[in-house]
Amino acid sequence: FFKNILVPYDESDHAKSALHVALGMAGQYPEAKVHVVTVIPSAALPNPTLLGEGFETPYAIADPSSYERIMDTAVKRAVADAEEVVDQSRDDAQCKIVADAVIAGSPVEGIADYVESHDIDLVVMGRRGLGALRGMLGSVSFGVLRSVDVPVMTVR
Ligand code: ATP
Ligand code: MG
Ligand code: MG
Repeated sequence: FFKNILVPYDESDHAKSALHVALGMAGQYPEAKVHVVTVIPSAALPNPTLLGEGFETPYAIADPSSYERIMDTAVKRAVADAEEVVDQSRDDAQCKIVADAVIAGSPVEGIADYVESHDIDLVVMGRRGLGALRGMLGSVSFGVLRSVDVPVMTVR
């Protein structure tokens, strides 16, 4: 069985279905762990390289410690959202479930790094996400399929 299953989570219904499928696969194994992880693209946060003297940012960040605080808040918020959906879907799953969030250059990069650093042996993710465009496969799913060496399951 799969010991460390990653569910990349973006709050879409597809990602929620992916969590449901992952729990169905791992739920009966107390040794299994399902990681529900949101990637916050660093572009969504203020850019620290623009914080030098003479630069204006919409965030008016005066010192690096407040930048740390913004990152911290963003991560905590994402973890709280993931924890909430985990609580709603836990049922009587016996496996371990963790909610996490990471900041990375892109969702694909963050997911690929997480796979490496947490010994992930299966990724279960939505076929689509929050994006409005219709199509076969979202760009994050496509990128993950191309970047990781472990099996990837996409869920509708
Ligand atoms: P696109 O983003 O290409 O416009 P989309 O939003 O419909 O299209 P994706 O972003 O590829 O599709 O989403 C597919 C799946 O990827 C989601 O269901 C989710 O599992 C995962 N995913 C997407 N964005 C993130 C993210 N920021 N953090 C974690 N997982 C994500
Ligand atoms: Mg998307
Ligand atoms: Mg996208």
